[in-house]
Amino acid sequence: MTPERYAKILRVLSKRQPTLSVLMDQVNKPHNLSAIIRTCDAVGVLRAHAVPPGNGKALDFEGHTFEATSGSAHKWVRVQTHADTLEAVRGLQAQGVQVLATHLSQRSVDYREADYTRPTCVLLGAEKWGVSDAAADAADHNIVIPMFGMVQSLNVSVAAATILFEAQRQRLAAGMYDTPQLSPEDLARHAFEWGYS
Ligand code: SAM
Repeated sequence: MTPERYAKILRVLSKRQPTLSVLMDQVNKPHNLSAIIRTCDAVGVLRAHAVPPGNGKALDFEGHTFEATSGSAHKWVRVQTHADTLEAVRGLQAQGVQVLATHLSQRSVDYREADYTRPTCVLLGAEKWGVSDAAADAADHNIVIPMFGMVQSLNVSVAAATILFEAQRQRLAAGMYDTPQLSPEDLARHAFEWGYS
């Protein structure tokens, strides 16, 4: 590895936001998964979460579509898979992470009202069926991007980008990209791993 490459890895890792993530709930189209991961990389998500469609089968992540759409983003954003959405939500909450379900309900608020400087995971649903009512109920808040058109919803990767860049905006304003959010040990460990990717 060249010194320039290593310097770039350190620069990127020093902006990574280990307290910002997404949970993709049975998002089943590889091009959507890929586009979401690419956005995650751009805003500094360290690790994403996914419940693969079809009862915990392997994610269709490594196929041609994923690689073609994500660029090489999947190398830099690890995806942790979970067998069950509710368990994943509760597990994140047990670690002090607020889960924001992208879901239209009685208690939904405009996505810009959420505080993304807190440890946050954005729960995203599949094209056909969205986030389940049970997972939305278990989430800390339900958020929506206001829609004024004829069509009721956005593509999931577009919704993810809209919300994650609001999170980036808030975190930039709070200075959360100015100092490394990873501990020196974690930063060094990731730099070592990325150096061999
Ligand atoms: N038929 C589904 C439903 O009723 O929820 C539509 C799902 S939408 C095509 C796919 C996903 O994109 C949603 O589960 C959500 O994660 C996200 N999404 C789409 N439009 C959104 C919006 N206006 N606000 C927040 N999230 C949205």
